[in-house]
Amino acid sequence: MQLFNSLTRKKEELTLPKTGKVGMYTCGPTVYSTATIGNFRTYILSDLLARSLRYLGSEVKHVMNLTDVGHLTGDNEGDADTGEDRLVKAAKTTGKNAWDIAREYASEFMMHMESINIQKPDVVCKATDHIKEQIELILKLEARGYTYKISDGIYFDTIAYEKMGNVYGQLSTLGEIKEGARVEVNTEKKNARDFALWKFSPLGERRQMEWESPWGMGYPGWHIECSAMSMKYLGERFLLHVGGEDLRSTHHPNEIAQSEGATGKKPFVKMWVHGAFLLVDGGRMGKSLGNAYTVETIKTRGFDPLALRYFYMTGHYRKQINFTWEALTASASALDKLRRVYFEAGHSRDSLSPEKMGKIENYLQSFRDALADDLDMPRALAVVWEVVKSNIPGRDKQDLLASMDQVLGLDLAFWSPAVTTVTEEVTELLKKREEARAVKDFKLAEIEDTNGVSRIVGKKS
Ligand code: AMP
Ligand code: ZN
Repeated sequence: MQLFNSLTRKKEELTLPKTGKVGMYTCGPTVYSTATIGNFRTYILSDLLARSLRYLGSEVKHVMNLTDVGHLTGDNEGDADTGEDRLVKAAKTTGKNAWDIAREYASEFMMHMESINIQKPDVVCKATDHIKEQIELILKLEARGYTYKISDGIYFDTIAYEKMGNVYGQLSTLGEIKEGARVEVNTEKKNARDFALWKFSPLGERRQMEWESPWGMGYPGWHIECSAMSMKYLGERFLLHVGGEDLRSTHHPNEIAQSEGATGKKPFVKMWVHGAFLLVDGGRMGKSLGNAYTVETIKTRGFDPLALRYFYMTGHYRKQINFTWEALTASASALDKLRRVYFEAGHSRDSLSPEKMGKIENYLQSFRDALADDLDMPRALAVVWEVVKSNIPGRDKQDLLASMDQVLGLDLAFWSPAVTTVTEEVTELLKKREEARAVKDFKLAEIEDTNGVSRIVGKKS
């Protein structure tokens, strides 16, 4: 299989281990709010990658973390270590405890993963369950002289690291790691690129999440958890690391520096795979823009979550994909057609000729080739549609599609025409709208239109 490696900036053949499993780590969500369909684009990428590797004959050990402490609001804006812990902030605004918030959103995330058929990673690990491992890793960095202390915590010293012959920030797209690109610069840091390994609890204040450490009461910096947990479960060197493109210039270079700095072994990860972002209506998605759609939004608007899964596969993972309700509707209708073809194919009585047998092998090969070519899902889907249109006998068509569905994850075999994709909630909304219309309450009818009900009516009739 060939994959684009962000580290070398080219497509490379994956050198699969002769024995044992392919180690693969995905940077998981920060569990302070509901994951968006943007976040899930990245998790679909790891799911498709793990499924494809398995389909092509490898054994995979997939590890995903859940960030439940230490990810600060400033971390994604260029400068690590500024702002407030996202979980603490969510606790303050909701009046809940940070631990409860983490539990609540972690379990919701697992539920949403299941509803879009993302196979559960072999290990799902939380930062707060691995404080000991993170402290041990920081101690190793300290012993090698790669840390220093300032008033709010222990920091990684990128200059000291480079003086030992290492290169910091190889993964970054140039410019982003320069000081000027940072939103806010901590003047106590020796260098703007340095980042927190351990942060102290504020003086005289008790945090809901805090731990004793050799440096005092506090909590881990955001990046150290991924180094500690990936190496714990996959070893000091492993093959694949997946994340969204926003992690490429700060979080991942920091992971490399921490891991290679602590073990002295290079490379920590052989291949870095970054997924491009999902846009909504051509722009950024965000809570303030009212378009931070979630799997729940998709369901509430009457769509089967697997239509969203289909939609993700219509774009190559290295290109941005634009989510619109129209595009989702098109994916839902393609999925519906595929399911019907699959279902009906089971009733066919055609027989298999040697010529058709050859076709089956070719389709299978083209499908595998598409996966092996940097996970080209749009091309793989095109092969699926060739199969749909082909004259191969129904039962064989069904078998072939079932085989491909091991990667697609569309649950083709579980569908029958009796299954309805319209949820109870949507039926209820429809009823309310009709009632509103009946009493000429146009205002109410209009409000519910903007909630997407009109689209569902269109779909049904
Ligand atoms: P976070 O919960 O902010 O830590 O993000 C979790 C993951 O979702 C990271 O790998 C991000 O890169 C990814 N992510 C966030 N927004 C998007 C988006 N719009 N499209 C694709 N991936 C995203
Ligand atoms: Zn990470």
